[in-house]
Amino acid sequence: MHFIVITGGVISGIGKGTITSSLGYIFKERKFKVTIVKIDPYLNFDAGTMNPYQHGEVFVLADGAEVDLDLGNYERFLDRDLRTDNNITTGKIYRKVIDRERKGDYLGSTVQIIPHITDEIKRTIRRVGEEAEADIVLVEVGGVVGDIESMPYLEALRQLRLEENGRVFFIHVTYVPMLHSLGEPKTKPTQHSVRELRSIGIQPDAIVARSEVELDDEVKKKIALFTQVDEKAVIGIPDVSDIFTMPLYLNGSALPGYIIEKTSLQKRDDDLERWKSVVANIVGPREKVEIAIVGKYVDLKDSYISHEHTFMHVAGKTGVGVKIRWVNSETQMDDASSLEGVHGILIPGGFGSRGIEGKIRAITYAREKGVPILGICLGFQLEVVEFARNVLGMKGANSTEFDPETRYPVIDLLPEQMGITEKGGTMRLGDKKVIVRKGTKAFELYGKEEIFERHRHRYEVNPKYIDLFISKGMTFSATDVDEIRMEILELGGHPFFMGSQFHAEFKSRPQYPSVLHSALVEASARYKKISEKS
Ligand code: GLN
Repeated sequence: MHFIVITGGVISGIGKGTITSSLGYIFKERKFKVTIVKIDPYLNFDAGTMNPYQHGEVFVLADGAEVDLDLGNYERFLDRDLRTDNNITTGKIYRKVIDRERKGDYLGSTVQIIPHITDEIKRTIRRVGEEAEADIVLVEVGGVVGDIESMPYLEALRQLRLEENGRVFFIHVTYVPMLHSLGEPKTKPTQHSVRELRSIGIQPDAIVARSEVELDDEVKKKIALFTQVDEKAVIGIPDVSDIFTMPLYLNGSALPGYIIEKTSLQKRDDDLERWKSVVANIVGPREKVEIAIVGKYVDLKDSYISHEHTFMHVAGKTGVGVKIRWVNSETQMDDASSLEGVHGILIPGGFGSRGIEGKIRAITYAREKGVPILGICLGFQLEVVEFARNVLGMKGANSTEFDPETRYPVIDLLPEQMGITEKGGTMRLGDKKVIVRKGTKAFELYGKEEIFERHRHRYEVNPKYIDLFISKGMTFSATDVDEIRMEILELGGHPFFMGSQFHAEFKSRPQYPSVLHSALVEASARYKKISEKS
């Protein structure tokens, strides 16, 4: 088992996660078994309680772990399900050590960061590798070298290198800013950041220097000289147009070959042909549709990153690209004018009451005008609310999440969930089996009765109202195995009106895009054709 550690220097937000995912992909295509660990040095136990405004989307794994969105990128690039341990946080590590201490496992000794915390970190990283039977474990350290929070991790990784002689490779991803007044890229911050790393005992094996433009050989030579890294191991990466181009770019660089040369990994041929055709479709789709995402977090990049990627997967496979129109459900949905001209609408998941009425207005618009629409999780629930209010005339119908006193609680907690107060305690999380009913649109799309999809929600369609909804034309085309929880809905007499209680976007992969998103895009393309004719 080999370990490739990726640290960050100078500033964050320069694509360390993309570089890590891409490296994973490159080695996977060389037929190595790869897994990736993300270290988030914050004290939160997991990302479940974090605000998307600060951290972007919360991703959910098959085992129900709520994790950093980088894990979503890893899964999509590796085409492999990851587990809770693939996202190490300081909260998880400390909790484990403290639990051990309380059980008396440390036999009366003083429990310290070194060796107890560092041992726990190493143990977790190795366990992830062993459980995945990995040839290569990529370890991405969040944040920037020099942060107090990341110190114990870097110390643990330093020790790992010592213990795993020759099987640990360090890549430092830094930023080389361009001084436009001089027209010159500046290497000084990189030099300082490597010095910082070396002061804690880590000499990087390679430097990936991110910059606005291609770095010329002189600049790379200078970085090599000051950081004591092989000149050919200084890799310059300019801004690339999209994340899917990155594997091609990195694969064309000297980095994969250099890693293999310096470790005891075998040399194997790469095979990126399939990826190249996918990327060609993403970069230059033969057709484009415009789909509105109506949500309250649209102003923050990355809040809906899995949806964005899913649409790119659809483009990669079908050649139909999606231009996303971001519509703020709180400020831009007093009426439907922001939706004019779109060919499809997606209502994503969410928590809390802000922006709810705007989303409902978007659903009414789609239902009445025949615009294709897909509701996901909260979007699904609001499709039910909208139907109750505007088709069944149940004035004030709502989810009890937003109006506990509503006369028509069409979305509610199930009886067995009542009375549990700890936040997260009642949340339904992770992969669950979904039963698709024959003879429905959903069955036509999935082509099978049993599917597994990812969940993150608390509320459900209230069983009390289901028969009423069905009698008025709403079809619940999939349920959980007990047939208590509604999982997919669809409306007949409309070009495409669907919703899912699960997050179809979390299991979408470049090789097999989300079925529901694909269907939305297809319906949008049809809608576009018809609306252009008339
Ligand atoms: N807030 C809703 C619930 O808890 C929907 C959750 C979501 O969209 N992820 O059920």
